Amino acid sequence: MTDCIFCKIASGVIPAKMVYEDDRFVVFPDISPLYRTHLLIVPKRHIASVNDVDGAGNDALAGIFAVAKAAADKVGVAEGGYRLTVNTGLHAGQVVMHFHMHLLAGEPLRAL
Ligand code: AMP
Ligand code: ZN
Repeated sequence: MTDCIFCKIASGVIPAKMVYEDDRFVVFPDISPLYRTHLLIVPKRHIASVNDVDGAGNDALAGIFAVAKAAADKVGVAEGGYRLTVNTGLHAGQVVMHFHMHLLAGEPLRAL
């Protein structure tokens, strides 16, 4: 996806301050943080949204919770707690159509 911002970040075309990277995921700070800690966990493979998860996409997302935990550990919020959120589609407010999980932390979060 040549015009996808998260594909560009995941492939290094656009630089980001990586918190974590492995062969399948990158984790970097949200450009417009809603909380003291606001990270994005992004698969390197382009999957537009949960609605587009197929067999291969499911494989590409396997292990995402372990990545979230590693990232939370790395930035020091694992013990204090954090929220993982995936917006899917219009009504959820998804604006970047490359699957991503938000990691929100660093202060008390409003109850859902
Ligand atoms: P969503 O509403 O779930 O699609 O969230 C997309 C998120 O991506 C928003 O919180 C944006 O602030 C964030 N975002 C957009 N462009 C960038 C970028 N270049 N680097 C980091 N975060 C970004
Ligand atoms: Zn993409």
